[in-house]
Amino acid sequence: MRQKSGEDGKLQGKVAVVTGSGRGIGRAIALTLAREEAKVVLSDIIDDVYEVAKEVEALGSEALAIKCDVTNPDDVGKMVKATIEKFNRIDILVNNAGIYPFKPFTEMTEQDWDKVMNVNLKGMFNCTKAVVPRMIEQKYGKIINISSIAGSVVAFPQLVHYSASKAGIVGFTRSLALELAPYGINVNAIAPGPIETPGTKSMEKETLEQIVRAIPLGRIGKPEDVAKLVVFLASDDSSFITGQCIVCDGGYTLP
Ligand code: NAP
Repeated sequence: MRQKSGEDGKLQGKVAVVTGSGRGIGRAIALTLAREEAKVVLSDIIDDVYEVAKEVEALGSEALAIKCDVTNPDDVGKMVKATIEKFNRIDILVNNAGIYPFKPFTEMTEQDWDKVMNVNLKGMFNCTKAVVPRMIEQKYGKIINISSIAGSVVAFPQLVHYSASKAGIVGFTRSLALELAPYGINVNAIAPGPIETPGTKSMEKETLEQIVRAIPLGRIGKPEDVAKLVVFLASDDSSFITGQCIVCDGGYTLP
């Protein structure tokens, strides 16, 4: 029996895959999609996906939890196969899995660079490549890529590899949107500003406080701020929007 969530079931019957959904922004996206009655595939490298699946089910929706490293095409292939076997379609893909290991450029190794590119860019490529054939067959799909204001809006030090990967996501989104438009598939990106997650909690307290002081809306973002934008882009309310990267940052990048 579905719990009363106060939401209006905008995504009823839709099947959504959310990468990196064991915690942080991905977890909030999964739960917010479930509140809108989407069936959700939780995928991450951490075991927490199984707990998040229980939370999705507690909201009255269906869930499938799968351990999947987005850098590994075999893992991704198995995840997509399991999704189709259980739900028989894929309507929404949220490419959220990402890492942001701060490091000065002078200390950055080729391995550091490759790791970030592999998770943030190649992971998105692997997952998108695996779901697009199904979306083309369905003539329907919503692909939402989580970029960052650090991609092409503002610059932060010690994030050269991350910034390059997140700017890459914007280029990927725009080009793919053109190719997939004839099939009724929308491809958009979101550029969040600072959001409070387990990932950002590991940032230096002083750096984080400095950033928060510069946010015009006077607070750090919540994972749900991003999740609600994902629901909009995953729903037919945004059916005339494609190839865009929407900033969600409390006005941080305005001045
Ligand atoms: P988070 O708390 O670190 O959660 C990200 C999840 O993705 C973690 O469970 C992580 O596992 C997982 N992951 C890492 N590598 C993976 C892989 N190869 N395959 C599958 N899953 C993997 O991060 P977050 O702050 O929620 O960020 C989520 C996304 O939003 C990222 O793309 C990030 O760049 C973007 N973003 C975040 C902010 C922010 O302020 N938080 C701002 C702008 C953009 P591990 O814990 O093992 O790494």
